[in-house]
Amino acid sequence: MADKRDYYEVLGIQKGASEDEIKSAFRKMAMKYHPDRNQGDKDAEEKFKEINEAYSVLSDPDKKNKYDRFGFAGVDPNAGFGGAGGSGFGGYGFGGGAGGFGGFEDIFNMFTGGGFGGGYAANYNGPREGADIQQRMNITFDEAVFGAKKKIRLTKNVQCSDCHGSGAKNGSSKHTCPTCGGRGQVETVQQTILGAMRSVRTCSTCGGTGEVIDTPCPTCHGTGAVRKTVELTVDIPAGIGGGANSPVLTLRGQGEPGTNGGPAGDLYIVLNIGKHDTFTRKGDDLYMTLPINFTQAALGDEVTIKGLKESLVCRIPAGTQPGTTLRMRGKGVKNVRSGKAGDILIEIKVVIPTNLTEGQKDLLRSFGEAPVVEQPPAGSKKKGSWSQKVKDFFE
Ligand SMILES: [Zn+2]
Ligand SMILES: [Zn+2]
Repeated sequence: MADKRDYYEVLGIQKGASEDEIKSAFRKMAMKYHPDRNQGDKDAEEKFKEINEAYSVLSDPDKKNKYDRFGFAGVDPNAGFGGAGGSGFGGYGFGGGAGGFGGFEDIFNMFTGGGFGGGYAANYNGPREGADIQQRMNITFDEAVFGAKKKIRLTKNVQCSDCHGSGAKNGSSKHTCPTCGGRGQVETVQQTILGAMRSVRTCSTCGGTGEVIDTPCPTCHGTGAVRKTVELTVDIPAGIGGGANSPVLTLRGQGEPGTNGGPAGDLYIVLNIGKHDTFTRKGDDLYMTLPINFTQAALGDEVTIKGLKESLVCRIPAGTQPGTTLRMRGKGVKNVRSGKAGDILIEIKVVIPTNLTEGQKDLLRSFGEAPVVEQPPAGSKKKGSWSQKVKDFFE
């Protein structure tokens, strides 16, 4: 044992380090040299053993005190000194090989499972929030755009009205659970390479409440809650659906009831928004395709389209090219927050006629033979004799 390294040195800390510093140094080292991460590495395994030994001493105030005063002689069972207070020290045995080591989770559990007196165990039996519920709802395109009030039915736990959630039959009492002593949890101690490993489970006698009921409420069988189908009215805000495809509404406190006086959980409603016959929605803008014939495209026209609520007149400028997008500002969806309306964007699709009469064909032939003259673009409708003739023909 002469070649043993100083325990503080092993954990890379100074003598006089605080409990928290020791704990965090151990955690870092244990994660680094854990056999799960260093398969077959003998050096790491030795290091890991060394770290654990150092920690098992320095984390125990009594052993730490002895070590600080007497060095290894104070804590080494081989030195014949351990009788005084080192009874727990021999508890961890090496020799198990890698298989005998605690897993990674065990290291974490050591720090969270209450073995170090953390707040978790103490608060476990306190008020707990009820579970959240998620439910889907189908709404139409228009309901998303203009808002709606929708009824929703859902089956959930509600507080039992006969016992007001206590679970005890009217007039009967509760007493502290004998299994866990009212803590709601039971602790088991396992001997491992890391020393005494504590794990904490919910007490099965009282289900974690810390109390046992003498006579259970006959309505809820002692659970304090009953299943019930309830109907709620859900306010769909106008303009919702501009962001995610399936927006979620949160109804605070409409989930399952809490326990031990804790608040109820929340209800999440995932909206499924239906499609529109004409429009595709992107944010607050609406997109549509408008088929026109080439006369309308060439000569310009005014076309009435059905907007969200009212009819809109879409002015097609003369000389509009296929694939052109026309924008009607402020005719889209009003934003769910700002109320500012998006636009309607109209993509122009020019439809080439397929069943032409002989007269129409003649006109097109003469059009094809006519010299191409650059027309001034959009806005200047020329109703000359030839163009008027063409327009009359196709309308
Ligand atoms: Zn219990
Ligand atoms: Zn009840």
